[in-house]
Amino acid sequence: MIGSERIIHGIVASAGAAIGKAVRAFDPLFIPFNSKIRPDQARKEVERFRASVEKSREQLKRVQAELKRKSGPESSFLIDAHLLVLQDRLFVDRIIEKIETSHINAEWAIQQVSDDLFQAYDRLNDDYLRERRGDLEDIVRRLLHNLQAKPLPSFRKLPYDAILIGKAVPPSTLFELRSQRIVGLATETGGPLSHTAIMARSLGIPAVMGVAGLADISSGVFLIVDGDRGVIICMPSGQTVDEYRSRAREDKKLRRKSSGSKVTPCITEDHVRISLGANINFSEEVTAAIASGCESIGLYRTEFDFFSEGKELDEESLTAGYSQVLKSAKGAPVTFRTIDVGSDQKNWDGVNMNFAVRGLRFCLENTDVFKKQLRSLYRASVNGPTRILLPFVSTIDDLDAAREIIAEVRNDLEVRRQPYDPMVPVGVMIETPAAAQTCDLMVSRVDFFCLGTNDLIQYYMAIDRSDQSVAHLYNPFHPAILRCLHQIYALLQPTGKPITVCGEMAADPPSAAVLLGLGFTSLSVSLVAYPRIQRMVCSVSFEQLRELAGQILQMQKPKDVEEMVRRTVYRS
Ligand code: PEP
Ligand code: MG
Repeated sequence: MIGSERIIHGIVASAGAAIGKAVRAFDPLFIPFNSKIRPDQARKEVERFRASVEKSREQLKRVQAELKRKSGPESSFLIDAHLLVLQDRLFVDRIIEKIETSHINAEWAIQQVSDDLFQAYDRLNDDYLRERRGDLEDIVRRLLHNLQAKPLPSFRKLPYDAILIGKAVPPSTLFELRSQRIVGLATETGGPLSHTAIMARSLGIPAVMGVAGLADISSGVFLIVDGDRGVIICMPSGQTVDEYRSRAREDKKLRRKSSGSKVTPCITEDHVRISLGANINFSEEVTAAIASGCESIGLYRTEFDFFSEGKELDEESLTAGYSQVLKSAKGAPVTFRTIDVGSDQKNWDGVNMNFAVRGLRFCLENTDVFKKQLRSLYRASVNGPTRILLPFVSTIDDLDAAREIIAEVRNDLEVRRQPYDPMVPVGVMIETPAAAQTCDLMVSRVDFFCLGTNDLIQYYMAIDRSDQSVAHLYNPFHPAILRCLHQIYALLQPTGKPITVCGEMAADPPSAAVLLGLGFTSLSVSLVAYPRIQRMVCSVSFEQLRELAGQILQMQKPKDVEEMVRRTVYRS
């Protein structure tokens, strides 16, 4: 519609621009869960639930008929399983009973009953039956959505140029859809440091977050997501579309030119060697990283592959996957970070997972999961240089508990005569203030350190990294952050233990220059950021940055620090 172009501002989350049609993502996280109802409202709530069951049944019958028509009767049995869940008294009647006796809303009753059933499925020893958990998940998703009275999106029928929009899009959804036709992403919540943003960057999907007013945009609306300016253009004019198309053609030409260029070693003007690794989120990225000349995989966030497609892989599949990663790395070291679940998820009852059981805390509460991953990593380690990294460590006790489990796993492998590399280094992420303050106490217990500035900054600045309303306070040039990093370097440098900075602070040339100035000589960044950091390193003098660090450590305001750093890096 010419003339009705509307620009909505948000926050830059992943660079680039995308032109396409909005597709609303189903968003279970923001349904108003767990609200109490008055006893006299229970009947109405049960009716609301029954209506959702009925609507779901009708939808499924339609899908079944369509499937029968298109692919014959054999495939329509897949839908039978879903229809059976809707008839299952254990499921439907228990939900009604919960609404009537506990006086809770239908969404919460569905959640409680399905959680019990999910747990029962998880305890099953039969792989086939365990797989049926997916049917239940699907039906729960459908019921919850039908309670919201909004149309259920079918991701199988995405337009070729889909722009995923929603209040929040979990990283898992983006991951699941990665091979489909998603060209852009826009969300109401979230910030550039959320895992969804990191995932979008590593998939090369332009993204803007913190966009107010997305709720008014329906699926099918023509949109431009400008991840460079941090804006959404709703119903763009023909002229705007032409401008963006010609920009896209120019970008493509530039990319083609740079991909043909030779890899430059990372050495500063005054001959200081900087080690530059790549951060990846899924195994497929290794090949591209190695092909573009990355010297190591400095951070592999394993949780996305670990819970691939919503289910947990078994030890054999994990071992095979990690072995393949190491083989594809062709001798380059790979730092596997053990699963960091919890981050970017909010519990139904509103607990912010940034402060809850995540990272190593989760692994210590779920030792079966942890041991399975460790066994797989050690078994794979015979295929190439492997490093194991523990995330979200905040106490020495947790670290000692993890080390005991690692010793147990190694012992098991020896008993089972399964080969592994006994020299695999084990390191910790410094990403909580507690770890920053006590990293010297960890030295004798670990082989290396990785500095996670994304989390470190959020906890230091007391901001939730996925909350856009405080995103302006995320500032790597804040004196508190500079002092913290300076202190970590002072504590660790004399010990000779390797330290790599793998947070996003290392991925932006000015803040990465600050890291060099503070003394850090090993960085790891996403593939997208790799060339620009490589260019920055080769154009600066390490000595000059060391002097600069001395000056900025005396300054009071982040904006003055940033200005001085930019002047030095860009020589303006
Ligand atoms: C970090 O916190 O800086 C980090 C690298 O880990 P993640 O972004 O996965 O939390
Ligand atoms: Mg982190």
